[in-house]
Amino acid sequence: MKEEFNLQNLVRSNVRKLQGYASARDEFKANKTGMTFLDANENPFENGLNRYPDPQQRELKSALAKLKNVKPTQILLGNGSDEVLDLLFRAFCEPKEDNVITLPPSYGMYRVLAEINAIENREVFLDKDFEPHLRAILEQQDNNTKLLFICSPNNPTGNSFDARSLKNLLENFNGLVVIDEAYIDFSTYESWVNFLDIYPNLVVVQTMSKAYGMAGIRLGIAYASVEIITVLNKIKPPYNINEVTQQHALKRVLDINNVMDEVETMLKQREQLIPELSSIGYIEKVYSSDANFVLVKVDNALQRYQELIQKGIVVRNRTQDPLCDNTLRFSIGTPEENQKLLQVLKEMDL
Ligand code: PMP
Repeated sequence: MKEEFNLQNLVRSNVRKLQGYASARDEFKANKTGMTFLDANENPFENGLNRYPDPQQRELKSALAKLKNVKPTQILLGNGSDEVLDLLFRAFCEPKEDNVITLPPSYGMYRVLAEINAIENREVFLDKDFEPHLRAILEQQDNNTKLLFICSPNNPTGNSFDARSLKNLLENFNGLVVIDEAYIDFSTYESWVNFLDIYPNLVVVQTMSKAYGMAGIRLGIAYASVEIITVLNKIKPPYNINEVTQQHALKRVLDINNVMDEVETMLKQREQLIPELSSIGYIEKVYSSDANFVLVKVDNALQRYQELIQKGIVVRNRTQDPLCDNTLRFSIGTPEENQKLLQVLKEMDL
């Protein structure tokens, strides 16, 4: 049974002691208060971008907080969710001492970030239905296990994990459970953001790179308890979200209806694509998808991948992932792009 949860026991010792950097604009947001700003050694001549951005991203967080029904103090923003994931390692894992658990096949950056941060990565493969292996996961944890990375809907398999299993892990895992919801807006499952009040060890990571169509601005988001977010805020680079990103992201959040319309179109496209893919002879299996991509098993993934490149279509070859032998991953494109993909795949079937 899980011991009483105490976040401070999980925080890396030097971070616990750290006095974070106090940036010039922590108190006053540039250009908003009518003050004269002579505090940050900027070029004073206005061009729209000569001032540092708000280090606390107040406007954007307040819009996100409203959308997700959380407090702004429960939000950390990162330069893409890759930065958010990296901050989790740096805040909670002691290099060369601690370990994390990941569940391959999954998003490749968990492993890479563990290696960069000199943290042992304990891999517990998903089962043959691509579901987490609860007992094996819990058996892997010891006193140095700080983080468990769960990607749901999972990349590259496309499925969401059973909610009861994840509840079980949240209740029995001693460290932080990071649920990466990069693809949640395409999913029929409820977001774990709605459960933050119940689980003090839950961190939900989302991104504007997928459904929101904003991969170019790099905005990743962590939702968690105020206590967890306070630790992450202490170590984030002061101005990690640039002004252009803050402005574009805010506009897009306020334009949520258009985002949802685009998601609707992508989902319809996915549902049309799946039966067509299944009818192609060398496609042995089309995995069900709760995301904006589809994983398929083919006769020879490398050969099919190269044939597609020759026809001008770039997809992802996932063959190297465990349990993903001879698989390709297709992102859902525009209706025209999906038609082109199908046409080329069918030509290759002749
Ligand atoms: N998590 C998952 C599951 C992903 O698939 C990706 C990108 N492919 C990311 C996180 C990183 O997204 P970003 O850094 O663009 O927010």
